Amino acid sequence: MRYKAYKYRIYPNKEQQELINKHIGCCRYVYNLCLEKKINAYKTSKKNLSSFSLMKLLPTLKKEQETSFLNEVNSLSLQAAIRNLDNAYKRFFKEKKGFPKFKSKRNARQSFQIVQNTTVYFDEKKVYIPKFKEGIKCRFHRFFDGKIKTSTISRTSTGRYYISILVELDDNNPKKKPIDENKAVGIDLGIKTFATLSNGKEIPNPKNLKNAITRLKRLQRSLSKKVKGSNNREKARKVLGSQYEKVSNKRNDFLEKTTHQLVTTYDTICLETLSVSNMMKNHHLAQALSDISIGRFNELIEQKAEWYGTNILRIGRFEPSSKMCSCGYIYKDLKLSQRVWICPNCGRTNQRDLLAANNIKTFVFNKRNNTAGTAEIHACGDMNPIRDSAQEAHKSLVCGQFTKLYSK
Ligand SMILES: [Zn+2]
Repeated sequence: MRYKAYKYRIYPNKEQQELINKHIGCCRYVYNLCLEKKINAYKTSKKNLSSFSLMKLLPTLKKEQETSFLNEVNSLSLQAAIRNLDNAYKRFFKEKKGFPKFKSKRNARQSFQIVQNTTVYFDEKKVYIPKFKEGIKCRFHRFFDGKIKTSTISRTSTGRYYISILVELDDNNPKKKPIDENKAVGIDLGIKTFATLSNGKEIPNPKNLKNAITRLKRLQRSLSKKVKGSNNREKARKVLGSQYEKVSNKRNDFLEKTTHQLVTTYDTICLETLSVSNMMKNHHLAQALSDISIGRFNELIEQKAEWYGTNILRIGRFEPSSKMCSCGYIYKDLKLSQRVWICPNCGRTNQRDLLAANNIKTFVFNKRNNTAGTAEIHACGDMNPIRDSAQEAHKSLVCGQFTKLYSK
């Protein structure tokens, strides 16, 4: 079975907007209340409240006068909010992602989930969801065929509404294409050039995205200068919010097209594994946005590769990929600003990103082809069969002398 999410802009009328906002508010209320209860239960008795026990609170809350407003919304959406909290906890413990935060009215994106009974009428241009008497106007820019699982309605900071519908498609994924080094490409992702391919092609960052980011930076600076609580600050916050939206729409558009093109052009794509912990360290805006792009790129390319039968092969995070000449020499002192370097060992001129893309491809195939066929000789005289080229290259960097790769 394969699932696919379809996101559409919706145009709720005044009454529907109110009900959507109620759903968002109630789900946020339940989420925050349960988070507080979980934290307190842990503090007082070291107990973890299960989502099941938290859901059992809902009927009582609905009867109490203070919280009787919860009756106005879909109770399955409230349960979904509790389940989301549970998932946030699981991510925190498993993946060491941040501890679940209280949801604020001020968050740029507000949403709630509809667990079942979403119905779409393409010809009517309407989507029907529980608790809403009439269908909500929807712009279907594309159709789908399959069973609807869940859907999520979201509101952006500029007051736009969207629905994202998760669909179980009827067909199965195609078979994977055979892995052939000649039909494979290595890709190095970066900030300056978005992607450099081992065959010499480059995918630059789109100009309109660069301009949008420049404007975003300016707006962010101007916001920070406004007095807290002032009308001007509020205004600046809204403008900034809408600029964020523009950036993210442009970025998504670019990433959708790029990943589609790559998985339909090449049979096998070699990439580095993304390290999340490294990404989290960046506070710089340009760097942070580039990290988001790379993260989303990786998600999309995996997803689309499934649909087209393309292979994605990865090597572990591998620092010397732009420092290692094809003769095996590792240029330890390569600075980030240096785009080109000349190998002191063999005299080759190496273009940093292109070299990285080629090395990624080479290492992926080395790793596949041989657990025993290739050996590594350090200048210091040690010889190690390579199990994981990336790991070994790390080691040779430590050894400090150049390494030669050759076939036995
Ligand atoms: Zn060289």
